[in-house]
Amino acid sequence: MKLYNTLTKSVEEFVPHEAGKVKMYTCGPTVYHFAHIGNLRTYIMEDVLEKTFRYLGYDVTRVMNVTDVGHLTSDGDTGEDKMLKGAKREKKTVLEIAEFYKNAFFGDCAKLNIKTPDIVQPATGCIPEFIAMVETLIEKDYAYFAEGNVYFDTSKARDYYELSGHNTEELMVGVREDVSEDTNKRNKSDFVLWFTKSKFDDQELKWDSPWGVGYPGWHIECSGICMKYLGEYLDIHCGGVDNIFPHHTNEIAQSEAYVGHKWCNYWFHVQHLNDERGKMSKSSGEFLTLSLLESKGYDPLAYRLFCLQSHYRKPLTFSYPNIDNAGASYAKLIKRISALSREGAPDADAVKAYHDKFAEAIALDMNTAQGLTVLYDMLKDRSLSDATKLAIARDFDTVLSLNLVREVKHEEAPVVDEADAWIVAKIEERAAAKKAKNYALADAIRAELAEQGITLIDSKTGTTFKKA
Ligand code: AMP
Ligand code: ZN
Repeated sequence: MKLYNTLTKSVEEFVPHEAGKVKMYTCGPTVYHFAHIGNLRTYIMEDVLEKTFRYLGYDVTRVMNVTDVGHLTSDGDTGEDKMLKGAKREKKTVLEIAEFYKNAFFGDCAKLNIKTPDIVQPATGCIPEFIAMVETLIEKDYAYFAEGNVYFDTSKARDYYELSGHNTEELMVGVREDVSEDTNKRNKSDFVLWFTKSKFDDQELKWDSPWGVGYPGWHIECSGICMKYLGEYLDIHCGGVDNIFPHHTNEIAQSEAYVGHKWCNYWFHVQHLNDERGKMSKSSGEFLTLSLLESKGYDPLAYRLFCLQSHYRKPLTFSYPNIDNAGASYAKLIKRISALSREGAPDADAVKAYHDKFAEAIALDMNTAQGLTVLYDMLKDRSLSDATKLAIARDFDTVLSLNLVREVKHEEAPVVDEADAWIVAKIEERAAAKKAKNYALADAIRAELAEQGITLIDSKTGTTFKKA
């Protein structure tokens, strides 16, 4: 497997710490609102990544957090708490909001055939772990307490800007959005590990800590949850490109300070989905959710295909004509596969040859568009029987997850001539008698019909009849 690594800014051979095993971490959703289809692009491509690893024979353990506390609107230490904002908007408690939008998120994932990671952990369930981590960072002199909050001292990090390529002169993303700079910080880029003093006196969720009652910063959540389940060495960490700075940059700084060695070797980032005006937003313009697309008649899997048609490292523009095209391609693809005959056995050698071809395409920096080309080429390949094509499509679909091969629907019940309705009624009466174990009556009905030249045919799906 070759992958682009944001850390080294090059496409590299993927070598996990332990041969054949992948420890994978994904930044989960902040559950203060519905996910927009841009967020879902990231989760679709991460799902393909996990399934690609599995397709190539790796044993994957994947962990995802759910952010239900600590994520401020700026992604840094300024702005409002997103959860609190959601709760105020809907006049509900933070926990109610979290539960509702967590379920909505996993509902969207199910519709998009996104597999739920092996472990999903809400941040509010790991507060003691975050506190323990912050305590260690203070002991190791990487963190300091100032005016109620605990901060990470970024000047002590090994190479703070390694991932993002920023430099110290640049302002933090957060500070740009909200100019009220925190004067307690030793360095402009320092970030909060634990808040006790903040402008949100009405913060609903608070926990006791050695520094007073408060709540964790967003960044420590991911490091803490990741290490709790995957240990000190992580193979690959994923997210959207906006996570690179400050979130992942801060995760690296605090995690490496905590474990005392390099923590994660590969960083995988999905480029943004934009609308025609630019960045996708939950607060301005049309709030593009999966439910909105469904209400306009789009199949969620057409949206999945739309994402797979492009490389994950290229920005993608959403527009209705674009999704219309993807929808038409999807319908055509399903129709074509549905028309394949299910008779006969697949040719195992051909299935293996195509498995290898598909693996080669997606193992090269997860080239899903090339994977789809292999699928279309395979469907056109005249040397393959229908049964072989179906077997190959099923195999590719373990990664693509487009429901390419649909189960054959049972034959519709034949339309019965009105004059024969009495026979159907007799059949129903016989079925009811059988169910009640009144076999004498059931047999009598069969005999009565036989006298009229009507033979009953019983099968797994029910009873039909034939007239002499
Ligand atoms: P959030 O729920 O805001 O924490 O974001 C969830 C995921 O969506 C993160 O991995 C983000 O990096 C990602 N994301 C945010 N906006 C976009 C976008 N427009 N396109 C693709 N991914 C995005
Ligand atoms: Zn994260």
